[in-house]
Amino acid sequence: MPSLFDHQELESFFNKHQFPLRKRRSFRRLFFREFNSLDEAFAQSDFADQVRQHFDIPKLKIVSRQDSQIDGATKLLLQTEDGQNIETVILRIGTGRTSLCISSQAGCTEKCTFCSTATLGFKRNLSLGEIIGQVMLAGEILREEDRKVRNIVFMGMGEPLRNTDNVLKSLDIMLSSAYMGLSSKRVTVSTIGITENISKLRAAFPEVNLALSLHASNDEVRNILMPINKTFPMEKIKESLLSAQESSSGDLMIQYLLIKDLNDSPEQALELAQFLKGIDCIINLIPYNDSMGMGNWKSSSEEKMFAFQDILQEQNFQVTRRHSLGRDIDAACGQLAAKNQK
Ligand code: SF4
Repeated sequence: MPSLFDHQELESFFNKHQFPLRKRRSFRRLFFREFNSLDEAFAQSDFADQVRQHFDIPKLKIVSRQDSQIDGATKLLLQTEDGQNIETVILRIGTGRTSLCISSQAGCTEKCTFCSTATLGFKRNLSLGEIIGQVMLAGEILREEDRKVRNIVFMGMGEPLRNTDNVLKSLDIMLSSAYMGLSSKRVTVSTIGITENISKLRAAFPEVNLALSLHASNDEVRNILMPINKTFPMEKIKESLLSAQESSSGDLMIQYLLIKDLNDSPEQALELAQFLKGIDCIINLIPYNDSMGMGNWKSSSEEKMFAFQDILQEQNFQVTRRHSLGRDIDAACGQLAAKNQK
């Protein structure tokens, strides 16, 4: 069965049934932008039933919802029809901006040693409908608050570039001006560095932002944190980033988790600057979240984080510190699903 969120399939269906253009426009707006139900979007006509019979429309059930008491984060634990738990996080930032962090896999193919999701193992890739379904659910929740999803980040459970086909198709409908109409500048795909798929993403969506989880300044440390580094070592990642930057205009964010006594020394800051020389990027420093309970890692001290940041800035890099929302609700990826599984 084709997915309802494959817009080429949907348009062919409309053509086959000679569904008038005016009604199509109204349906797209009501369903994909205003998050009404299928019946409402088809003005209660029986066309909604025909669509249901023809298309795969996976349902995501909300298992739990946690609203942060200290900031605007909401974490949703969702369940797919075959019982897989996945997570979606809504981040309401004071200025009225709303971001959504979505999952691309149930569990994860990778085994990063600092990450709760890794403890779940890999269950399966999410379908196109399950990826977009997270956006639709969040859209419905936010509609009640007079808010809209403005930014989407693929930073929930899973490695998006291990589910590249469905992630690319989901970008297609998110960014299509006739459908969800999000700005590509407001969509970010995060990866641990699956180099051949970085090229595919950059070729298909050159304006979409890329967040690369680097977390180390050399292979020795990265091997400890991310087993993938043995397949895609840092030099290979650098080559891929340099070649992709020729043809893309999206931002590149280098994600760097600061872990006490592992990757936070002044020498490592300089080594990182050396590694990133020539790469047009923003470095995003992320304090390690002790509450993840993974390994024996601890967060770097504030003092060390500022010193690390200063060194990078002296080397002319743009550096940001991630504003961490939802600390009281386990908003780091995989934490809630990991707890739920225990
Ligand atoms: S950090 Fe990302 S890629 Fe690594 S195990 Fe966790 S979810 Fe997977």
